[in-house]
Amino acid sequence: MKKKIFIVANWKMNLSIKDATKFITIINRAKYDNKITKVIICPQFLLIPKLSHLLQNNRVLLGAQDSHYNLSGAFTGDTSSDLLKYFNCEYVILGHSERRQYHNETYNIVKQKILTAVSVKIKPIICVGETLDERKKKNYKKVIEDQLEKCIPINLKEVIIAYEPIWSIGTGVIPKYSEIEEVSNIIYEFLKKKKLRPKILYGGSVNKKNFKNIISIKNICGGLIGGASLNPHELIEMIEKV
Ligand code: PEP
Repeated sequence: MKKKIFIVANWKMNLSIKDATKFITIINRAKYDNKITKVIICPQFLLIPKLSHLLQNNRVLLGAQDSHYNLSGAFTGDTSSDLLKYFNCEYVILGHSERRQYHNETYNIVKQKILTAVSVKIKPIICVGETLDERKKKNYKKVIEDQLEKCIPINLKEVIIAYEPIWSIGTGVIPKYSEIEEVSNIIYEFLKKKKLRPKILYGGSVNKKNFKNIISIKNICGGLIGGASLNPHELIEMIEKV
């Protein structure tokens, strides 16, 4: 049996209402086998209600790029998982390195966000990954295990991890396939000891040229895709490669 492949589009703070609508019209028309592929689009918050309306046939699923660790309260500028659920978000990206860098998110905050998302039945896609310096110093195993230890709550039923080497995000530089395989094994074995069977995605400069090789790596079952996910035709090409 072929493994189920996740294609998660992280649109970041991109696309207008008009461009997002055009994108969804193109992708809704595309023919692909969604028994093998799970396509999840994660737009910025203000696009979510519109996309929720446009994606009603469930072939393409909706996710968010962040959510707060409380369901309501005095948290100016934040967004609740409850509202995301209302707008049919089934997934949420948590602990992305850009959130850690620009919003000072700690491991403990990421852990609290995971617990809150799960409490309203939104599945977290949890990002881990090392900096270039950590890779050069060959520290990455310890760094990633530390992130997993501190971010992943015990008793989580379903775990989706996105391995995103920070030096690969938006740079066009990707690790060797053997390096991705090595880290995916580290993640898998670490979580197996905690009785978890993670689904592991790779993220960092994924595009239509490298996607097929990346998803052929043992233990990798999909991609978290930034830049290349903004073009519906490139995304469809990747879906068709599965
Ligand atoms: C990301 O930020 O999650 C990402 C993978 O970006 P890109 O594909 O543009 O490297």
